[in-house]
Amino acid sequence: MEKIGITTTVPIEVLMAADYQPVDLNNVLVTDPNPGRLVNIAERAGFPLNCCSWIKGIYGVCLDYGIDNILGVIGGDCSNTIMLMEVLKLKGRNTLTFAYPDQSDPQQMQYALLKLAATLGTTLEAAGRVREELQPVRDLALRLDKLTWKQNIVSGWENHLWLVSTSDFNQDFHKYYRELQDSLEVCSRRQAYPAGQIRLAYLGVPSVYARELYPYLERCGARVVFNEVQRQFALPVPGASLAEQYSHYTYPYSIHDRLKDIKTELRRRQVDGVIHYVQAFCYRGIGDIVFRDAIDLPMLTLEGNDDFSLNNHVRTRIEAFLDMLLRSRQRLNYSKQALGK
Ligand code: SF4
Repeated sequence: MEKIGITTTVPIEVLMAADYQPVDLNNVLVTDPNPGRLVNIAERAGFPLNCCSWIKGIYGVCLDYGIDNILGVIGGDCSNTIMLMEVLKLKGRNTLTFAYPDQSDPQQMQYALLKLAATLGTTLEAAGRVREELQPVRDLALRLDKLTWKQNIVSGWENHLWLVSTSDFNQDFHKYYRELQDSLEVCSRRQAYPAGQIRLAYLGVPSVYARELYPYLERCGARVVFNEVQRQFALPVPGASLAEQYSHYTYPYSIHDRLKDIKTELRRRQVDGVIHYVQAFCYRGIGDIVFRDAIDLPMLTLEGNDDFSLNNHVRTRIEAFLDMLLRSRQRLNYSKQALGK
């Protein structure tokens, strides 16, 4: 299968039906031993310093890893992608675009999928067959999610890693399935994490310093039991068709629609506090205002730029936040005891 780079989660079933192997360029960036050098490639080419590092890193990946075909999402994701695709075209890459409808609507999604299938020379019937093949893999990823918050035997980092990888299944869904099965087998033999642990939700785009963030939170006595966007990548509501499946995917649509899913999961997972990660220079950071208004839980907003490791400033803010959550819980327990509850 010929490789095709993707800038975010797209209907990979259509790409695979057209004999393309999707490669999530974000995942290539963060798993590179030196992601900073990929960002530098873009800056040397003229990308502004105040442009998001994900966009610059994706550009660096395309050039450095020799990705010739790229599908960029220009509707429902990031307006920077529009210009990124123009520059990649200038550099001789074969660029295609996909736009999510401006609202969650299966009919409009069906048109968007038909257009994509026609561009790639395949059909939605063929994509539907790929969807059926992928469903057990998605189900297994969602089982891992349940084992994270319900059985409490999966770490926040493992949850992040497996769910974020569902955008391209690490470029081999058979291998992904086998490896996830093995990982779940290991998890099933573990003792559950302590009941008194602070339970966190992580909202927002995956962080540039995820690799250090999750283990650090656990060293501080907390664990992420809800990775919002990463879970959405696994498409938790399959629906009756490909069009319905991608209409239920909340990330491309209004933040108010996302909030319905978020608030349900915060309650269900008994979350104590929320981390909202925002990427420097990203328009989604403004959504922090909406989250803070709508979510009735303590919230810590963290920002990252091109720092792929946790700096001391971020560590201190995390520690202070967790300390505050712990003290609030102790006060609550004390009040309950005093009231004889
Ligand atoms: S983090 Fe924001 S600015 Fe960066 S690629 Fe994602 S949506 Fe675009």
